[in-house]
Amino acid sequence: MIPEIKVKTALSPSKLPGLDYALNPYRGCAHACVYCYAPSVIHWNGKWGELVEVKVNLPRILSKTLRTAKKGVVGLGTVTDPYQPAEEKYEITRRCLELLRLHDFPVCIMTKSALVLRDIDLLREFSNIEVGITLTLPDDRLREKLEPGASSVEERLRALRELREAGIDTWVFLGPLMPYITDIEGLVDAVSEVKPKYVIVDRLRMKKGVWENVRRFVEEFYPQYLDEYVRIFVEGGEYYDEFLGNVQGMCGEKGLRCEVNFI
Ligand code: SF4
Repeated sequence: MIPEIKVKTALSPSKLPGLDYALNPYRGCAHACVYCYAPSVIHWNGKWGELVEVKVNLPRILSKTLRTAKKGVVGLGTVTDPYQPAEEKYEITRRCLELLRLHDFPVCIMTKSALVLRDIDLLREFSNIEVGITLTLPDDRLREKLEPGASSVEERLRALRELREAGIDTWVFLGPLMPYITDIEGLVDAVSEVKPKYVIVDRLRMKKGVWENVRRFVEEFYPQYLDEYVRIFVEGGEYYDEFLGNVQGMCGEKGLRCEVNFI
């Protein structure tokens, strides 16, 4: 059973670049990504991915808020995925989008799910909307271990293709790029074929609680890289400055506009 909760606020101020507000229709996330740092942001106790709470009154609160809120870009899904499996049944994200469209708020969606395709009809009606889809690896067997609840790599690429064909601006969040594990050439090749408007690349961020999960993952599937992970993430050794520069170069060669996430 999925717990239903009630919230008092809908939009919260966002410090993420390009966003004025954050809107999160769920608390928790069934995608259960190994590297997720949302649990520390929302002070989540318990196993991440096992439980998701649905903010059942969020559309009602959002409706009131939008009547007086200053217009600004709403980031949909900053600490949860707005198109995780619960959305199929609850449609909280869709109902929030209907309200945002009504009030003509600009929206930036961030997801790892092809369920976003369900809402193409609605997304097309916005005057200003972007859909960002994350890709971490090109290998779906590995994706199953790293992001077990999210859509497959192929489904996400298909979503990017279909959104673009529907005239909706797309971008790709390439990250977190996993040292020695991410096949970056394969990933950039795959992304270049779906022609997003731009790409943002990011490092693996060791926020509170993330290292233990990543260490377990590397120990189990890539024990040969564990010493390097300790060097980079525990001892603060260099890796990303040169690597991300190379990724930018690869993207440029494929005609992709690429920015590095510096936050
Ligand atoms: S999709 Fe995003 S919020 Fe959900 S588990 Fe993965 S990183 Fe965390």
